[in-house]
Amino acid sequence: MASPSALSSSLPPLSQQPPLPPQQSSSSSRLSPPSSILIIGSGVFGLTTAYALSRRHDFANTTITVIDRADPSNPDVFPAPDAASVDTSRIIRADYPDAAYAALAAEAQLQWRQQTHPDDLGSEGRYSESGLLLVADGPAPPPGTPVVTGTTVIDKSKLTGMDYARFSWANVLSIASSDPELAARIKECPNTDAIKAALGTGGSSGSWGYINGLSGWANAGASMAWLYKRVRAEGRINFVAGEVANLEVSGNTVTGARLSDGRVLSADLVMVSAGAWTGRLVDLTGQAIATGQVLGYIDLTPEEEAQLAHMPVILNLSSGLFIIPPKDGVLKIARHAYGYLNPTTLSTSPLGSSVTALAAAVSLPLTTLSDPTLQVPAEGAEDLRRALHQMVPLPSLRDRPFRKTRICWYSDTPTADFIIDYHPEYKGLFVATGDSGHAFKFLPVIGEKIADVIAGRCPPEFVGKWNWRYPPGDAAIKAVITEDGSRGGIPGLILSTELGKAMN
Ligand SMILES: Cc1cc2nc3c(=O)[nH]c(=O)nc-3n(C[C@H](O)[C@H](O)[C@H](O)COP(=O)(O)OP(=O)(O)OC[C@H]3O[C@@H](n4cnc5c(N)ncnc54)[C@H](O)[C@@H]3O)c2cc1C
Repeated sequence: MASPSALSSSLPPLSQQPPLPPQQSSSSSRLSPPSSILIIGSGVFGLTTAYALSRRHDFANTTITVIDRADPSNPDVFPAPDAASVDTSRIIRADYPDAAYAALAAEAQLQWRQQTHPDDLGSEGRYSESGLLLVADGPAPPPGTPVVTGTTVIDKSKLTGMDYARFSWANVLSIASSDPELAARIKECPNTDAIKAALGTGGSSGSWGYINGLSGWANAGASMAWLYKRVRAEGRINFVAGEVANLEVSGNTVTGARLSDGRVLSADLVMVSAGAWTGRLVDLTGQAIATGQVLGYIDLTPEEEAQLAHMPVILNLSSGLFIIPPKDGVLKIARHAYGYLNPTTLSTSPLGSSVTALAAAVSLPLTTLSDPTLQVPAEGAEDLRRALHQMVPLPSLRDRPFRKTRICWYSDTPTADFIIDYHPEYKGLFVATGDSGHAFKFLPVIGEKIADVIAGRCPPEFVGKWNWRYPPGDAAIKAVITEDGSRGGIPGLILSTELGKAMN
């Protein structure tokens, strides 16, 4: 029998898929299609879910409403410009140590690669298959070391950057094993010289790695605009501009959401997919935490851009530092790190919080939308500069100031697994968050998976990964630090403290 991922990978592109056939109805009332669903947040998780539900026969009679802080009548700013799903670029890779994510990403890549018609997801510059050079620091495996298969169950909390790279290598080899043409585009880089040759900028990073010509990057903002256009064309979804202040509850049932302007939206099922802001609405203690990640953009001359035109994306899994190839005269440098925490005192406790006093401090995003003067801390800016010097050592760029910097926010979980599940204590509440800084690539496929979980059918390979982890109020709950082997930087940095430190 074909595996679920094999079946789905034979589907036509998202833009050409016919609506799915009627599905088995569930005997559980929780799993029957609700008469109305309110989706809070229109990033990758929220918008793709709305799209998937709007095309399912089971949900034909369900009223679907999507609310976002951004104004949907202005597609240039929808979703909000400070949402994680909006940026110039996001890496599109199936390079994962976990075989389930690797397979799902490989399935998504089939659609990213669609570039025949202007309307295809990958067309009009939305996807570039530049290749990805994945490297790590530390002792390189001796030549001839057998490739350890990533299909065995791995303890992600014990992985180093090198482990992450080695398991990913095994998974991409396995994905390409049935296609020699694909296999030819994956190559081990066993030392710094090989890494330098594969990078082609004159720079290098890491001691071992591999280049995967099947990976690349997407223009995230343009891809979200592409999806939004499709969703609007369905004509099935009500879009509302507004900020949800809190969830409305009756007993232990969530009945809707109250907006900051006092309006109340009621629904049978509320899905919170508010990205790194989710912890403001639902208590995520021990489950997920908002962490701020640094980015810097440097202007290039046309000559510099031409010099770097053929570089792959480079990602060092030990430092978390990565650079995306230039586009439109701009080079992007970023860091996939433990990130900064921004403890924020709330005026309303998030739903399910055991802390009744409003002194509950939750890490929440701080962005230039609320503080236009916000800069990246010196610690982060210096790390980005270090990446530039190592990975793209053009003398002319050495001291060129960043045109723009940004702090972009992840909803981080301890294992970097997403949280896609019904809330264990509140009826009528579903949560899709915990993106852990790697969900964008799944844009073509994640909505269908979330819709499956809403319908009570979590993909078997993600059972135990996407679940709500601890019972709320569990005394054993610990602070969330993402230990999947991919993070650079230092855990637990507080944004306000780092912002107070001067640049060296
Ligand atoms: C710096 C950075 C680099 C990344 N790189 C990659 C990468 O290379 N590859 C990759 O695959 N992924 C990457 N990611 C991760 C990816 O971008 C995220 O996983 C994904 O975009 C998360 O989508 P989301 O829907 O959960 O959140 P978001 O996109 O943040 O969407 C949440 C939405 O909720 C709305 N909202 C929040 N609170 C409220 C409220 N109270 N009321 C109404 N609306 C609200 C917001 O306005 C926002 O539009 C990166 C992320 C960052 C920050």
